[in-house]
Amino acid sequence: MSRRQAFVRAILALTATAGAMAGPAALHVWAQQTVWKKVPAIVLVAPEQDPRLQVAREAVDFWNRTFSEIGTPFRLGPAVQSKEAVPVSYLRTLSEQVSPVAWFDFPESIQRLPGDIIVVLSDGDIVSFAAHSRSAEKVLIAIRSHRLLPTALPNVYRNVIAHELGHAVGLGHNSDPTMLMCGRPAPCRPDAFRSDTERFFPLTEQEKAQLLRTYPTTWTSR
Ligand SMILES: [Zn+2]
Repeated sequence: MSRRQAFVRAILALTATAGAMAGPAALHVWAQQTVWKKVPAIVLVAPEQDPRLQVAREAVDFWNRTFSEIGTPFRLGPAVQSKEAVPVSYLRTLSEQVSPVAWFDFPESIQRLPGDIIVVLSDGDIVSFAAHSRSAEKVLIAIRSHRLLPTALPNVYRNVIAHELGHAVGLGHNSDPTMLMCGRPAPCRPDAFRSDTERFFPLTEQEKAQLLRTYPTTWTSR
C-alpha cells in the first residue's frame, strides 16, 4: 500500500467511525458527500400563500423529473409549508461559513424543525446556501430575498433553489456557466441564471452519472 493509499484508508476509517457513533443514519455522510437512505421530507419555510412556495415546488418537481430521467428510484419527498421562523442572524452566520457545502451541528431550535431538507425562503440579505448537519440528519437551505439582486432577476430565483437542492442530494460545483451547479471557485454567480424564458438549467453528464452511482437502480427508501 502506498503512503497515499494508507492516508485515504485512514481517513475513510475515521469517517466510518464518526458515522457509526451517530447511530443508524438516514443521511449518510461519506467523504463530504450527502447520501440519503430514505426519501427526504421537504419543508418550505415561508408564509402561507406566498408565491415563492410555488416556485420552490417547481424546483422539487424539476429534481424528481431529473431523477426519473436518470433512471434512479430516488425521489425528494413532497414539499410542505411551515411558518416556523429561522432567525436571519443565524442564516447570515451560516451563510458566511458555507463554501459551497459544509457540515454543522445545528442548534436545538433548528434540529427540532420538521422535515429532512428545510428550505427557508428568506427575506434576508444573505448569500444562499445549503448547510448539512450530521447529528440532526438534516440539510438547511436558505435562499436570499427575492427582492434583492441577483435573485430578483427573471429566472434566477427558481434556479438558485434548484442549485441548493442539488447540494442537498450530494452534488458539488462545476465550472460551466450554462449548467445548474456552476459555482465557486469558478467565477459564475447566480446572475448567470438570468433568462427571459422560465427554465431550469441542466446537469452535466458527469453529475447525472454521479447521482446514479449515489442512488443506483437498487436504491430503496428505509
Ligand atoms: Zn453552490
